[in-house]
Amino acid sequence: MEKREVYESSIENINFENIIYNENNLNEKKCILCNKSFNYKYKMLGRTCLSNLYEQLKVPKFSIFVNKENHLLNIIALKKFKLFLSEAKKQALLENYIALDYLKKMNIASLNELQRDIENNIKEISFKTKLSPSMFPRYSINDFYKVYRDYIKFMVLINKARLNNEESGLNKYDESILALFSIAFDIEKIASPLYYYVYYYLQYLFWKTVVSGGYMAKMPLSSYLLNMSLEIDKEYDESERISIENEDIKNILLNNQNFTKIINENLTNDEINIQNQACEFNDGDLLFALHKASFNIYGSKAGVDAWNLRIEILDKYDFTDIKGFKEHYKDTDSIPKSLLASELNNYAAISSSYNVIKPYAFKIILNIDNYRK
Ligand SMILES: [Zn+2]
Repeated sequence: MEKREVYESSIENINFENIIYNENNLNEKKCILCNKSFNYKYKMLGRTCLSNLYEQLKVPKFSIFVNKENHLLNIIALKKFKLFLSEAKKQALLENYIALDYLKKMNIASLNELQRDIENNIKEISFKTKLSPSMFPRYSINDFYKVYRDYIKFMVLINKARLNNEESGLNKYDESILALFSIAFDIEKIASPLYYYVYYYLQYLFWKTVVSGGYMAKMPLSSYLLNMSLEIDKEYDESERISIENEDIKNILLNNQNFTKIINENLTNDEINIQNQACEFNDGDLLFALHKASFNIYGSKAGVDAWNLRIEILDKYDFTDIKGFKEHYKDTDSIPKSLLASELNNYAAISSSYNVIKPYAFKIILNIDNYRK
């Protein structure tokens, strides 16, 4: 078998047909899937991975006498109606076929472009077309393999966490599972688009579960703001404040004694016009959700001890603040301990880097008729 010698001759002189893309030689062969060394007769795949591929790609095993690696290459070529392919083209076809299978199983929208790219490769490979390195998937099969393995591990975990939440109720969440999610919170992988998109998706699922599950059950405002941060699809712009006018938020705030106390202190006149007043909260949910907030109150008296009010709360959402917040935490606060677990702190910081958790400026607007102290 010829070894790849791409870099020794000038590009024009390369006949890619003569290049075996897998750089294996007889002394040190590495499986293209798992990257482990093997010394069986096959050229690309270790025996276990080859056997697993038969399962994964639903290729029936033919007979124990055939070379199973060649058989797989031929079967895939036949499945795609590609005849008379060179060995290198068969390998290119198989690699694209495996990558496509992983992508279809993950079904992540942000990987659609890569999937189209791979489908085009498969279309293009024929005995007529000239083989080129661009006919191989953009990332190594080992990368597809690893990222899919992480994806599966993560999905098993998150389904287990969701099930635990449903079974044991919102107040009894399992904290021990948290550390296991670290598979998808790997900052080292941020530079590879393949990993980036898969981990982005998994981190998004994780925070969606945090928001909807028991982890933040006692923190409705924090949950709401975090959820919003996950759904925003544009860059942070200080001048663009997102208005939040929502009955749920209104009820959360009006049922919070900490909040109403601050409002009541400011209702001293018949006409109210307070602007840009700084406010601080020492209650769990509000302290966590609102950091350096300020508020405006406009209104007028509508009866004995009653006001028609428009209250605006202005702040910037930035989840990286969670780190500084930990120092202010007191045991008496009604914050779930898991929220402050070091895992969640780290995850939040990493998800900010991945831009899963996005900063945004917001204004909560409350219009209240006949507000009573
Ligand atoms: Zn292997």
